[in-house]
Amino acid sequence: MVPDRYHRQRIVPEIGEAGDRLLRDRRVLVLGVGALGSMAADLLARAGVGHLRLVDRDVVELTNLQRQTLYAEADVETPKAEAAARRLAAVNHEIRVEAFATDFNARTLGDLLVGVDLVIDGTDNMETRLRLNDACLQRGIPWVYGGAITTNGMVLLVRPGGGPCFRCLVPEVPAAGSLPTCDTAGILNTVPAAIAGMQVTLGLRQLLGKHPPPTLYTFDVWTMEFQALDLIRRKDCKACVRREFEFLAAGSGDITASLCGRDAISLDPGAKKPVEMDALGERLKRIGKVRTAGSVLLFETEGVALTVFPDGRALIRGTEDPDRAKALYAKYVGR
Ligand SMILES: [Zn+2]
Repeated sequence: MVPDRYHRQRIVPEIGEAGDRLLRDRRVLVLGVGALGSMAADLLARAGVGHLRLVDRDVVELTNLQRQTLYAEADVETPKAEAAARRLAAVNHEIRVEAFATDFNARTLGDLLVGVDLVIDGTDNMETRLRLNDACLQRGIPWVYGGAITTNGMVLLVRPGGGPCFRCLVPEVPAAGSLPTCDTAGILNTVPAAIAGMQVTLGLRQLLGKHPPPTLYTFDVWTMEFQALDLIRRKDCKACVRREFEFLAAGSGDITASLCGRDAISLDPGAKKPVEMDALGERLKRIGKVRTAGSVLLFETEGVALTVFPDGRALIRGTEDPDRAKALYAKYVGR
C-alpha cells in the first residue's frame, strides 16, 4: 500500500493509528494568524486536524513576510484570515478551514468558540489573551498561550478544571506601552518557528488526551537556553478561582485600540449589521482613491489610509490619535 499523507506521524508511537484518526475529528481555533498563528495553523493543517477556524482582524503587511510563512507578496493588504485559509486549502483539501476576518471581543467570541476543542493563541496583546482565558475557563476549553519577541518566546497550556490559568501568570492588563512589541523591538523569524512548534506539540498532546502539565516553557533561539517553570495557581485569581470573568463583560473589547507600535488605530464600532461595501465604495470613489483587496475596502484621504472590513471595523493608518480616527470613521464610513 502506498503510504498516505499522515503515514510519517502515524508511525510515531506518541501518535499511533488511534491518535492519528482522532485528529481528524478535532476542531481548533487559531486566534490571530500572525507569526505564531500562521505557523501553528500550517502545522495543524498538515497534521490533519479536521477543522480549523482562523480568526484575525488584521491585513497582511510587507513587514509580515519576513516571518509569516503562509503569506506571499500578492497577499499584502488582504485580510490575513482569508489569505491563510486560501493557502491552507491548497496544502490540505481533506480538512475544513474557516476564515473570520474579525475581532475577538465580548460580542463575537461566543460564536467563534462554538464546538472548539482547543485554541492556539496567536494574538499580540495581553488584553485579548486575558479575554481568551476568561472565555475558555467559562466554557471548559483548553488553550495554548504563546509569546514571541526578539530572540525568545514562551508557551503555556491552560487547562480548565483545577489548575492555574493565564491570569495566575498575568493578573492584570499591563499599562499601554509598557511592554516591547515586535514593531519596536523586532523579532528573528526563527523564534515563531520554534515557539509555534512547541505550542502545536502541546496542543496535539492535549487533543489526544495526554494532558500536559501547567508548565511555563521559555526558549531563547540565540543562546539555546531553555527553562521550565511550574506555574502555581494564585489563591485569589479572579479568573480560575473567583470566576469573575471581567474581560467578558458587555462592551469589553469594543474599545478603540492603538495598534502594535505602528502609526495606526484600529476601530471596532460594535456594528450589529454588516457594512454595505459596494455602496460605501461608490460613495468614497467621489472623494478619494478607493481599492478593494479580498473583502476589504481601502480608501486614502487627508494623509491617512482607511481599511474598512465588511463587519464595520476599520484600520486607520497615518494617525495615532484615537479621536481623529473616530472622526474620520464617522465622516467617511458613517454612524
Ligand atoms: Zn488563575
